[in-house]
Amino acid sequence: MPANILLVEDEPAIQELIAANLARAGHHVVRASDAETAQRIVREALPDLVLLDWMLPGASGIEFARRLRADERTRSIPIIMLTARGEEQDKVTGLETGADDYITKPFSPRELVARIKAVLRRRAPQTTEDPVELGGLRLDPETHRVTAGELALALGPTEFRLLHFLMTHPERVHSRAQLLDQVWGDHVFVEERTVDVHIRRLRCALEASGHDALVQTVRGSGYRFSAQAEVPPAVR
Ligand code: CA
Repeated sequence: MPANILLVEDEPAIQELIAANLARAGHHVVRASDAETAQRIVREALPDLVLLDWMLPGASGIEFARRLRADERTRSIPIIMLTARGEEQDKVTGLETGADDYITKPFSPRELVARIKAVLRRRAPQTTEDPVELGGLRLDPETHRVTAGELALALGPTEFRLLHFLMTHPERVHSRAQLLDQVWGDHVFVEERTVDVHIRRLRCALEASGHDALVQTVRGSGYRFSAQAEVPPAVR
């Protein structure tokens, strides 16, 4: 599954080069040339990862990274810092700010793509093609198939993305707003009850194997995927 990457870089030539390479690697790229624009973009839709230049006009990359980390909604977005400075102290400062990785310019496009992949695998597994197996279900992003043992389950594209996110973030309660941010990439224009509609469809699809019980409603809070839920023994 392609990742939505927010690229914050003020030098047009570098921005262009990086964007082209990320697109070639199959990612969706949204670009900003300064922290203020990036902030506006994040307010509307959460990216899966931020590629952030250190030296920007106005607020610096470090300052923007701090802002992201200080806000509950944006706290866990993976960040990779880009910098022309290669000093050890800078690296330490970058990582202390909460960056997940740190790349010194000049870097090869291949290295950049590989680092992004590693960070996404660790921090945003729902954007990778790795199959997920949990609670008797197997979800394969590459073939877009969900199976329970031998049984193939039929899921719509939104239900598939929803289940992928839930299975890669199990045992945790996700509010409707969080799910809109993470699965729809939009918490501004999509109504929260849309989540309920797709949860209902997802449960319906999982009923075929009795796995609908793994998708739990947490009253007043949201939804949770729990591999510990009781699945009827006949279909286990
Ligand atoms: Ca710069």
